[in-house]
Amino acid sequence: MSDQFDVVIVGGGPAGYAAALYGAAAGLNIALIEKSKLGGTCLHVGCIPAKELLETAAVYRTVTHAADFGIGASAPTVDFSITQTRKQGVIDNLTKGLTGLLKHRKVTVFDGVGVVTSTGDTKTVAVSGGESGDVEVAGRHLIIAAGSVPRTIPGFDVDGSTIVTSDELLSLQSLPESAAIIGGGAIGIEFASMMADLGTKVTVLEAMPKIIPGVDPDAARVVERSLKKRKVDIRTGVMVKGHEPHEGRTRVQFGDGESVDVDLVVLSIGRRPFADLLGLDAAGVPVDDRGFVPVDDNCRTSVPGVWAVGDIIATAQLAHVGFAEGMVAIRDILGEDPQPVDYLNVPWCIYCHPEVAFVGHTEESAVEAGFEVVTSTHRFAGNGRAMIVGETDGLVKVIAEKGPDGRPGRMLGVHMVGPWVTEQLGQGYLAVNWEATVDDVAAFIQPHPTMSELFGETVMAMTGRALHG
Ligand code: FAD
Repeated sequence: MSDQFDVVIVGGGPAGYAAALYGAAAGLNIALIEKSKLGGTCLHVGCIPAKELLETAAVYRTVTHAADFGIGASAPTVDFSITQTRKQGVIDNLTKGLTGLLKHRKVTVFDGVGVVTSTGDTKTVAVSGGESGDVEVAGRHLIIAAGSVPRTIPGFDVDGSTIVTSDELLSLQSLPESAAIIGGGAIGIEFASMMADLGTKVTVLEAMPKIIPGVDPDAARVVERSLKKRKVDIRTGVMVKGHEPHEGRTRVQFGDGESVDVDLVVLSIGRRPFADLLGLDAAGVPVDDRGFVPVDDNCRTSVPGVWAVGDIIATAQLAHVGFAEGMVAIRDILGEDPQPVDYLNVPWCIYCHPEVAFVGHTEESAVEAGFEVVTSTHRFAGNGRAMIVGETDGLVKVIAEKGPDGRPGRMLGVHMVGPWVTEQLGQGYLAVNWEATVDDVAAFIQPHPTMSELFGETVMAMTGRALHG
């Protein structure tokens, strides 16, 4: 069979559609195969709907505190069905935009399940079960971008009403009075924050000693304190044992004979790679024992001409990491010797209240990696804009390598928790990835009054000459 396409991509989530858009912009003739909805997890059951519901919670909090500003507003109520309609409107707009963009770039989209049938010189994928009917798509290069699905716990059968994963939670038409969230990682804590703000009594059950593992401990403490203030019951270091119906609710057993009775159980214990429908075994593309497709720095699998990107490979499961990997694969296909993704230094954002954002080393990981480090921490409590907004909980911590002269030198990590920090991380991201020194960054002017002044102050303090701190 002759090559119809330069590149065939299976999976239309962030990793797959980024590869398609980027490749098409570079002049490649691209086929994109998607079995469900263009935009994948991120757009339909991930980043976008989750952040939309968190914004609803933010609006609720703002109205709750309106009286502090002299604004008379009666106690807020939530009609979650309106929230859902608004959420769906955002998703529909973005889906329309993405579909238009792919069309504009002349990407050929196939609707159906893709099964890889040959990985010889010509790669072929059989597509079936969707609007495109039964077709065979052939190309010179293949990119696997089939993403991930929520992990579940044996014995906890997802029924969409009493036991849910993120997929179902994000489409609930009303919020429960009480919920147990199993898993205190980023997604679980975003859900805990959103539901607690909107009136659900939340219990978080986390097997690890701390919630949001991987987050700087001082930042994680700020989040934990805030959740506790909102009456979230956080149980760490506990294993969930099972569940049973109890007086119209669900009794979840955990730890050493403890239990909690709730209206909804939310499974939030991570996501597993989804190679289930791809037929990779038969096609000779290896899959490891956890279900990930092994790749090298350029996202190449061990089969010549086959790449894998996004949540299906064992890297950070983030949409923007998928975008970056999709672009690496395309640049490799184009023979451009791409810069591999620097996984240590990708940006991380968690949109709970207060928000968390970070990049690079924590103090602990920098020391483990053999650096002598200097740290500087400043709190939002003294920041004018934070006071104006009425959100002074939080901090910025900068980690720098101690230079040969004993002074702080290259910036290794930036950790933030507090108001709007997901929108403030950009400077820290650039500084760390540009290998800027503390002196370089301290010279930058921060606009006044802004939250970002705190980042500037935190860096300036490391030079020994803070302005306000
Ligand atoms: P996916 O988005 O999973 O897309 C894979 C696509 O492949 C799917 O559309 C699927 O239908 C399709 N597919 C699979 N198999 C086949 C086949 N055989 N044939 C045809 N099509 C197939 N990340 C962030 O960066 N920021 C966030 O704030 C964030 N929040 C999140 C919140 C939640 C609740 C969840 C669940 C995830 C969140 N993520 C976030 C993670 C992010 O959604 C994923 O990292 C991202 O979607 C992965 O992109 P992907 O393209 O690899 O896979």
